[in-house]
Amino acid sequence: MATELPRLDPEVFRAQAHELVDWMADYLAHVGEYPVQPQGQPGEIRARIPAAPPEAPEAFERILGDFKEQIVPGLMHWGHPGFFGYFPANTSPPSILAEMLTATIGAQCMSWNTSPAATELEQVMLEWLRQMLGLPAGFTGVLQDTASTATLVALITARDAKVRQLDRLTVYTSAEANSSVPKGARLAGYSPERIRLIETDERAALSVPALERAIAADQAAGLIPACVVATLGTTGSTAIDPLPAVATLCRREAIWLHVDAAFAGSAAILPELRWILDGAEHADSLVFNPHKWLLVNFDCSAYFVRDPAALLRSFAASAEILKASYDEKVVNYRDWGIQLGRRFRALKLWFVIRSYGVQGLQAMLREHIRLGKRFAEWVASDPRFELMAEAPLATVCFRQRGAGNVDALNQQLLARLNATGRVFLTGTRLRGHYVLRLALGHLTTTEQDVAFAWELIQRLAQEAGPG
Ligand code: PLP
Repeated sequence: MATELPRLDPEVFRAQAHELVDWMADYLAHVGEYPVQPQGQPGEIRARIPAAPPEAPEAFERILGDFKEQIVPGLMHWGHPGFFGYFPANTSPPSILAEMLTATIGAQCMSWNTSPAATELEQVMLEWLRQMLGLPAGFTGVLQDTASTATLVALITARDAKVRQLDRLTVYTSAEANSSVPKGARLAGYSPERIRLIETDERAALSVPALERAIAADQAAGLIPACVVATLGTTGSTAIDPLPAVATLCRREAIWLHVDAAFAGSAAILPELRWILDGAEHADSLVFNPHKWLLVNFDCSAYFVRDPAALLRSFAASAEILKASYDEKVVNYRDWGIQLGRRFRALKLWFVIRSYGVQGLQAMLREHIRLGKRFAEWVASDPRFELMAEAPLATVCFRQRGAGNVDALNQQLLARLNATGRVFLTGTRLRGHYVLRLALGHLTTTEQDVAFAWELIQRLAQEAGPG
């Protein structure tokens, strides 16, 4: 029998979509009942999936059944109220619904004419975000997929702003910068031995005297400082690099200043925390991730630049098939980054910002910050533990005290915590010490969830502790 041609049957789609939406609503309601982290061994899931593609069509019910049985148990549940790992990768109902529309329409948003509404909504959304953050009007934005991509774009633009003597160009960032920064610098063609990881001060923030010394030494050696990447909210402990002083230095030496505010940038929508962006008015570029702390589904990074012309010099690439008579009058975002094809990311921002309002988003951030401070107080009041960094931004670094190998003690505590399936935390190294990190930022997390995590930590520390 001949196989049927693939075709679109809207009524079949409607029934299947309704079934999926029911599953999605149940998942969101009950995500806390799953183990946060899957406990299987590497290769287990792969072994259950046929190694070769099916020749004949398979029924939707079967595919959905396999999704539930084989895929879901192998997933980390990032929206679980006990998920405190890394930084959040958020979801929220309006964002999920917008993603469904984006997928349904399937628009390619590379040029204005390939979906005018997508380009123009993106322009307005970046302007809304600029106002929410309090960035000066001189900044213009574009959505990138991730902060990694935005930082790579900044490093390439900074490279092209200097004479093309690539082997002499240098890049500076702190030793606490996200791994995407030195990686981006390598990808942008800077020599690995010219990427300077500058020491940090006692707050894990970039040391400006050390930066100044490194720049002077490089200049004396005939090298050309091209870019400084400052971090607002480091991945390890949300440390804030001293941007005003870094910006003054960069201006004086004519060095591109890129600001990586991937996680913490969202906090600047709070008037009481807007100070974290002090100095950003002098930056050349800045990235922050609404997909981390602003309830927008991954991926969605807002990248702001002061001089779009510089960006275009590095990234504009036309071709006959792309040309349109009104190109001079419109923004073609394909020229503002690495990709040609682009997703319609602005829609989820529009849905989220309108659904919650700036006030709703501010209220959520304040609650996460309050919960972070509460957790930090609990840690500080228990003599068996110590705080390992300040915790102003809903991420708390702490560890269990102990005699002997304290790093191993804390690694074991982390493994025991995560093995419960009730919470998930990540560990990192901060100024030589292994620390545990509790990162808040998801829509669903309540004080009860944080209190539960703390009780579990205390109990397992007691069991594991040296006494
Ligand atoms: N920069 C900082 C400070 C981060 O914390 C992270 C990720 O956590 C990144 C960059 C990378 O973000 P993305 O996954 O959007 O590339």
